[in-house]
Amino acid sequence: MTKSEEIIALFDQYVMPTYGRLPLVFVRGNGSRVWDADGKEYLDFGGGIAVNVLGHAALTDVLLKASAQLVHVSNLYYTEPQGRLAKKLVELVGTPGKVFFCNSGGEANEALFKLARKFGNGRYEIITFLNSFHGRTLAGISATGQEKVKTGFAPLVEGFRHVPFNDLDAVTKAVGPKTAAILLEPIQGESGIRPATPEFLRGLRQLCDDRKLLLMYDEVQCGIGRTGEFCGFKAIAPDAIPDAISWAKGLAGGFPMGAIWARQPFQDVLSPGTHATTFGGTPLACKVSLAVLEKLEKDDLLTNARTTGEYFVRELRKLSGVKEVRGIGLMVGVELNVEAKPFILKMAENGLIGVIAGTHVVRFLPALNVTRSEVDEAVEKFRKTLAAI
Ligand SMILES: *Cc1c(COP(=O)(O)O)cnc(C)c1O
Repeated sequence: MTKSEEIIALFDQYVMPTYGRLPLVFVRGNGSRVWDADGKEYLDFGGGIAVNVLGHAALTDVLLKASAQLVHVSNLYYTEPQGRLAKKLVELVGTPGKVFFCNSGGEANEALFKLARKFGNGRYEIITFLNSFHGRTLAGISATGQEKVKTGFAPLVEGFRHVPFNDLDAVTKAVGPKTAAILLEPIQGESGIRPATPEFLRGLRQLCDDRKLLLMYDEVQCGIGRTGEFCGFKAIAPDAIPDAISWAKGLAGGFPMGAIWARQPFQDVLSPGTHATTFGGTPLACKVSLAVLEKLEKDDLLTNARTTGEYFVRELRKLSGVKEVRGIGLMVGVELNVEAKPFILKMAENGLIGVIAGTHVVRFLPALNVTRSEVDEAVEKFRKTLAAI
């Protein structure tokens, strides 16, 4: 038995089989590289699914220092890092508002659902989109526009209605007297990197203004600089400013953290006693997130996400044998003519990690500090995998 096989055997016996895992056991990382339990090196262009925005082993100093001072108190009290991080996030969005902290994308979207219902004051329906993904909580799967996540979990949470993405007429027709909000990913991630059009986002903004609805963006995957803009929607239509945003994944660069932002005048809708979470916004998590956001600025990583992302897409488009390459910044999807799952395994054998999206798309969500030479190396490994099929 190899070391990897030994560890996989533990999972077979003791870990619930909720994931379709690849037979890879990682033990160590540095920047955009990871190593498995048998010493093999990989270029990590999955980024832990858009989480590791600074790559691996990038947060050691802040984790050590912050944990020596204060890990957790409780939201019954105030701590400076939470206040400072909220201010920073509001500044990065660029529109006055306030922030609520939690621990994951699913939990952040739950906060959006509650915000919408409280705002709706009797209106409770939220319009979401086909092929969307909003997390695995019960309300999250109810919001998600994909049957496969719902199977076996009926009855679902009431009040979600799904319409085709980028179809403004369909949304307009779906708005009824019970509608309170519209929720979408500005770039659909799990279903294969599919961006909203600028006209669609602007049309939704207008519709929400006309019908007094909240426009809410799930930026759990496309936020935190991934597109070359801090907010994903700004890479599409900077004027289509939402009323609320959810974040998680890259927010603290791999340390678990989620949050929502809501603009004036909706920022105080979730009033004292209406929402809470024990671990939300601990001083440790907030210091880590502040360190990530500072690094994004100091090293100009949004520019790198944009320019290196454009370069990556250009290079991928030169390859023959792929159906389509879609991407904004370092959120890149390659649609294959074959199923993505076995392809991704072959790619890993060639030393490149990517993530499946939909059935035929390989998704690349590398660290935002990835270099051109790492991109060249990834494209070469990708080409080699294509040539072998
Ligand atoms: C990953 C993801 C979620 C769920 O986040 P978790 O942290 O896994 O709960 C929700 N929405 C989108 C767009 C995501 O990509």
